[in-house]
Amino acid sequence: MKDRMNVELDKELLDILFCPRCKGNVRLNAAGVGIICGRCKLQYEVKDGIPIMLADEAKPIEEDGHSSN
Ligand SMILES: [Zn+2]
Repeated sequence: MKDRMNVELDKELLDILFCPRCKGNVRLNAAGVGIICGRCKLQYEVKDGIPIMLADEAKPIEEDGHSSN
């Protein structure tokens, strides 16, 4: 039996979410377990399907040479 800890985030939810730091749009990361702000290069954690949109809780994303803008 598999645990279903990861709740998929709604795209509609992503639409209303924004980065608390730059007020810009955010997107789901590749694994679908984090919210990414491309401008701030920050990843916001998602706990129990609830995005933690706090700059203090966000973790910096490492540059991968891909510019999102
Ligand atoms: Zn931002």
